[in-house]
Amino acid sequence: MWPSRSEEAIGPKAAAGADRWHHGRGMKGIATLALTAVLSVTGATTHAAPQRTGIARLTVPQRQAVKAAGEWHRGCPVWLSQLRVVSYRYHGFDKQTHVGQIVVNMDVARPVARVFAKLYRMRFPIRDGAFSSVYGPHPWKSGDVTASFECRNAGASPCSSSTTTHHWSNHAFGEAIDLDPRENPYVGCGMTRDKTAISYLKRSRHRPGMVTSAVRRAFASIGWGWGGSWVGSTKDYMHFSINGH
Ligand SMILES: [Zn+2]
Repeated sequence: MWPSRSEEAIGPKAAAGADRWHHGRGMKGIATLALTAVLSVTGATTHAAPQRTGIARLTVPQRQAVKAAGEWHRGCPVWLSQLRVVSYRYHGFDKQTHVGQIVVNMDVARPVARVFAKLYRMRFPIRDGAFSSVYGPHPWKSGDVTASFECRNAGASPCSSSTTTHHWSNHAFGEAIDLDPRENPYVGCGMTRDKTAISYLKRSRHRPGMVTSAVRRAFASIGWGWGGSWVGSTKDYMHFSINGH
């Protein structure tokens, strides 16, 4: 029986292009085009790199950017007013300190901030945590974006014959985080055709950005579970969530 907000349930497309599917980039492209004009006006404030850490409501330009990116629309299970932007310090792969911004549910904003503070202290590298890399006019440019909120359904399990589900992903509640997707790929029913992902499937060979037991403990300290520990051959190594699904 699938739990109602399971992300174990992921569609066959995922096996062919896990990362692409996982982030639902197709829809984003169309919506982004339509609202490029809005973004060009608000871009200066939306995409300016933040300097300080903390928790805040979305600014008007940020709300516009999230909607323009196709990540929020009427019918989503949370209102934009229920979301928060957590600005956090992180170590980049360039060994410099950056400030990233992640959009999460207001109910988990403080715990999530604590987790990112731990990741910073343990010098866990994050490739890209920029707000604009998730919701900007050219989302996912780096192909390795750490993010949370995305209003979408969970897909069906690639191990079963069904292709759709009608329940929300934890990402649609802002209660799941994908950490360094390149280094921590999604593997549907043991399959992926993504060459980069294949090189990261051997989890015993550690490289920077791969989820470690210390990272798992940081998320476990707020009660969150890891997609890399799912039973069976579907693993989502990038994925942490409030209920483990
Ligand atoms: Zn995820």
